[in-house]
Amino acid sequence: MNFGENTAKINMQKNILDYKVPLDYNVMMGYINEFSERYPFMSVSSIGESIMGRSIPIIRLGNGERSVLYVGAHHGMEWMTSVLLLRFINEYCELFKKDSRIYTYTLSYLFSTKSIYIIPMLNPDGVDYQINGVGEDNPLYERLLKMNQNSTDFTHWQANARGVDLNHNYNCGFAEYKQLEAEQGIGEGAPTRFSGNMPESEPEVGALCNFLRFNDDIKAILTLHTQGEEIYYTSGERTAPRSKTIAATLSRMTGYLLGTPEGMAAYGGLTDWYISEFNKPSFTIECGRGENPLPLDDYFKIYTDIREMLFMMPTFI
Ligand SMILES: [Zn+2]
Repeated sequence: MNFGENTAKINMQKNILDYKVPLDYNVMMGYINEFSERYPFMSVSSIGESIMGRSIPIIRLGNGERSVLYVGAHHGMEWMTSVLLLRFINEYCELFKKDSRIYTYTLSYLFSTKSIYIIPMLNPDGVDYQINGVGEDNPLYERLLKMNQNSTDFTHWQANARGVDLNHNYNCGFAEYKQLEAEQGIGEGAPTRFSGNMPESEPEVGALCNFLRFNDDIKAILTLHTQGEEIYYTSGERTAPRSKTIAATLSRMTGYLLGTPEGMAAYGGLTDWYISEFNKPSFTIECGRGENPLPLDDYFKIYTDIREMLFMMPTFI
């Protein structure tokens, strides 16, 4: 898979990396390229491209048929979730290489019986705006500035490259959400909470939905967001079979509380859509606690809290 020229070179001197700089797309691709050289059993492909033409990588760990999917960084300010997923990939691969045991199984057993698909950064353009700002050379510069209330400070940008909040662009409760949006005065594109002109209008969301439509081996999803230390597992009145039991286990492992999304957060997200479309378990994990964007220094503590969940999730499906 060729991800183009703009991939930084990372010098991996340690087996398990420290993440010391904000993780934009280029930095992430540097790590992923290093991982794929170092761990030939890990496979990398792409689900599609972002608005700005960035190829969205998907990593597969394992060759078992029954699979889970982990998704990070729907939102620009939440690239911490990409750091958490890279750390997990790194650790999984090191343990697999040594055929180590973790929690209740050996990695070689997990690898041969289950697969974990990981999309560390669904919204590379939004992450880029949040970390690096928006340059005047951006073809959407004038429009973006207007969406951002004429501010050049994009540090609170959550949406994709053209102001659509990806976690409201899924086809579930879209019409109801549009009404709430109108009441809030959210117009055509915004740093957060604008759902787009129609469900799956955004290439990032369309690519992920199609991937799920064509990969029936995926049996459950974990979507990582920040923040709040909460787990959501329902979509309105709906709950997929076994979700409640799994959610209770994930809550015990992480120390995160089970919750129900309220207000605008209750519509149009991946968890909602996946439950309503496929009736399979899907969980939104609100990682960490504080104010977004969470400081990078928090990542190790958060990783420690969610580590068992990431390793054990495939064994529940
Ligand atoms: Zn989020």
